[in-house]
Amino acid sequence: MELEIIRSNRKSIGAEIKQGKLLIRAPIQATNEDINNFMLKNKKWIETHLAEAQAREKAKESYHKLTAEEVRALANKALEVIPARVKYYAPLIGVTYGRITIRNQKSKWGSCSSKGNLTFNCLLMLTPPEVIDSVVVHELCHRKEMNHSDKFYAEVLRVFPDYWKWDKWLKDNGDILMAMMSNPEPKDPNKVQVIKQNGWVFYITKEARTLDEHKCGKWMYFFGDKAFAAKVCREAVETRVVAESKHTDGPDGVCCFYLNGDDMEAHKRTIQFFLDNDLIQKTKTGRLYNISFKYDDQTRAGEYGDAFRGKITLDQFLDLNTRAWKV
Ligand SMILES: [Zn+2]
Repeated sequence: MELEIIRSNRKSIGAEIKQGKLLIRAPIQATNEDINNFMLKNKKWIETHLAEAQAREKAKESYHKLTAEEVRALANKALEVIPARVKYYAPLIGVTYGRITIRNQKSKWGSCSSKGNLTFNCLLMLTPPEVIDSVVVHELCHRKEMNHSDKFYAEVLRVFPDYWKWDKWLKDNGDILMAMMSNPEPKDPNKVQVIKQNGWVFYITKEARTLDEHKCGKWMYFFGDKAFAAKVCREAVETRVVAESKHTDGPDGVCCFYLNGDDMEAHKRTIQFFLDNDLIQKTKTGRLYNISFKYDDQTRAGEYGDAFRGKITLDQFLDLNTRAWKV
């Protein structure tokens, strides 16, 4: 048995299991006999907890590492499941909330910002539904109390009386689940954030900051297959065709691919992406529809009206019959 003894300025001997090893904390003046007696007296506790911890450590090593594809599937599932639970519990707690973001990370199960934006770990999809609810309730209760005070937990328990049971489940099993996430959160600046809000699903990278609110606009694709819409929206930002995309959060709707209207390279990348993925409707003779790029300002009746800029249409870039580039 691996054993570590740490003596410090404390009054009694205590034991804990850390990374599969037994750790004894003892007062400075405790003798070896004192420690032996303590261990004999607590033999059963030490043995069972040590065995459990070692099994967990072993499981962690051998645990299946999720592939990027699997993580993505979990994130998509989380986007279906978690916002619905948040929507269910928020009125019971009596709070509002902002954006809901799904993350894949190795450290946190959830968080709540001071503005009420919520994040949840996609690994929650591998836990029982009660665990998901316990984390949702925990984060929503932070809308009332931004701390872990008695008042905070009183509110949690009022809404979710079984909280401690499922919190313990997560403490006991959470490490193993986190160990399935192979990489720590990538530092890739182009990391894609998926945000569900107001009937839209957004795919956003840090580069989205370069989008100018008065120059920004979109090429659009109308879909009837949500899974395909999600795939192309994600792919477009992952492969840096555009810095931001979104699609309607429904069985059909529209995909929007955002870029600055004066960025010729971005237009060409996006149109090529549309061609590659067959996102442009064709007539019977195979001629491409003359789709157009819409400035956001045009769809907002703001200070820039429709007449502010000329329309950008596909035929300015491509021959609609031969698909030869004109620019
Ligand atoms: Zn908390």
